[in-house]
Amino acid sequence: MIYSSPDYKTHHIFSADVCVIGSGAGGAVAAYELAAAGFSVIIVEEGGYYTTRDYDGKPLNNLKTMWRDGGSTVTFGIPPISLPTGKCVGGTTAINSATCFRTPEHIIAQWKNNLHVDMEYDRIVPHFEKVEKMINVTELSWDVLGNCAKIVKRGADALGLHCKPLKHNVRNCKGCGTCQFGCVEGAKQSTEISYIPKALQHDALLLTHCKAEKIVFKGARAVSVECTVIAPHNKRIAHCTVKSKIVISACGTMFTPLLLKNSGIRNTHIGKHLQLHPCSRVVALMDEEVNGWIGVSQGAYIDDFADEGIMLEGIFVHPSILTASLPGIGKSFFELAQQFPNIAAFGVMVHDTTEGFVFSSLHMPLAWYMMNAHDIHTLKNGIAYCAEIFLAAGARKVFTPIVPFSVIESMEKITQLKAATLKRGHIPEVFAFHPLGTCRMAGNSNLGVVNSAGKCYGTENLYIADGSIVPTSLGVNPQLTIMALATKISHYVMEQLTKEGAQ
Ligand SMILES: Cc1cc2nc3c(=O)[nH]c(=O)nc-3n(C[C@H](O)[C@H](O)[C@H](O)COP(=O)(O)OP(=O)(O)OC[C@H]3O[C@@H](n4cnc5c(N)ncnc54)[C@H](O)[C@@H]3O)c2cc1C
Repeated sequence: MIYSSPDYKTHHIFSADVCVIGSGAGGAVAAYELAAAGFSVIIVEEGGYYTTRDYDGKPLNNLKTMWRDGGSTVTFGIPPISLPTGKCVGGTTAINSATCFRTPEHIIAQWKNNLHVDMEYDRIVPHFEKVEKMINVTELSWDVLGNCAKIVKRGADALGLHCKPLKHNVRNCKGCGTCQFGCVEGAKQSTEISYIPKALQHDALLLTHCKAEKIVFKGARAVSVECTVIAPHNKRIAHCTVKSKIVISACGTMFTPLLLKNSGIRNTHIGKHLQLHPCSRVVALMDEEVNGWIGVSQGAYIDDFADEGIMLEGIFVHPSILTASLPGIGKSFFELAQQFPNIAAFGVMVHDTTEGFVFSSLHMPLAWYMMNAHDIHTLKNGIAYCAEIFLAAGARKVFTPIVPFSVIESMEKITQLKAATLKRGHIPEVFAFHPLGTCRMAGNSNLGVVNSAGKCYGTENLYIADGSIVPTSLGVNPQLTIMALATKISHYVMEQLTKEGAQ
């Protein structure tokens, strides 16, 4: 059953075995696992439920509804980093690029060695397998991946690099390229299409437009979640209380720390250790027609530079957005924009060593993240490699976001770029899509906020199952990691419920 704004009374009281806050990668998985195991589940989700009926293929319309604050969320620091997240049923999975990677084995080993997380790669593999089956992780043909991916492969082949197809969580994807603005084909198996309907089939109750404000405790035991119901246009219209035996916070890396602090939980690691995979993109003007908007927007990747902390991954966003980021003004911009069919683009992602933090102001989470010199250098090198690949693929001109190297037409210029030492302000166009770590998992409360079962230290029944518990950045896209962890955590919750039910 689904509640939307007109369904609420002025003050509604609900109760269930489990209250899951958030319906994104972590929350939807936890809700389904527990509902399928026979427990009563209420999902509290601040955003609305949007489906293919609501998508018209015009990104700007869906930016307003599905992206938090219309996608305008940015970190403080130099450079400021655009950090969008989803606010809708499906959370950020509804607006993501559908790329799927398992957590690298060496990263799990680092968590174990450095933070005493009780986790082995082999033990988490069955959770990956389950998630991959549920969301249909699959490899698409190069034709569906699109011309950008093929051009980058051509350049990579010429340089002896390895450009490989990414895996995606899709079913019958034809490559319409609108992944981040609501998949118009309904092909992307984001959680509002995969896990949430299955949780509802198992009688979960989904409260949309419902924002969790505070978890109420009796001693160390969470007893209820206080929520406000927010109608479209941010008007608060009602209040509701969800009583439950277990609370699972899955509001995401930005919001879970805020909810914990509002609920009186104290731990020095709450909000700290923010890592986010800073990214940028390189655009190329080709002789051939690319028509980059045809094909999945993130098609292929190159991991030859992973040891340097660099992952090159496709990214071609809708023309209405990418055109605006082309360089130049006036006539030169107009001339370039007219050649849009010949534009190709690819992304650069850094496995960051910088740590930032999340703090609250005016009831909103804000992020402070000052990229360190090492990560600036890594991003610069990633941009240089990407530009080199485009030139090797026959690009006429390559445009980078680096101020002194904004147009590159020769390999000599690439050599100069590689040798250059940049300051933070030299790369003004930086994005990040993978915030992680602000309530990290660790073997004890001196090192982190939740234990290896996802339970919040100092509480008896509050679990966290979202990106905030992922202890460090991964070097790969995180949705599968978050979903596999949420699957694992759900089993600990089931054990606790069964044990307490039996008492
Ligand atoms: C444009 C973009 C592209 C991406 N592409 C990829 C990709 O291709 N592959 C990949 O692996 N990752 C990708 N990601 C990242 C990935 O989608 C996220 O890491 C993942 O969805 C995070 O899961 P989560 O459960 O932590 O939070 P979310 O999925 O963000 O879910 C959190 C939910 O909680 C809700 N919420 C927040 N506060 C409250 C509250 N107080 N009360 C009630 N509800 C609340 C939010 O509305 C949201 O629905 C991308 C991200 C973006 C922005």
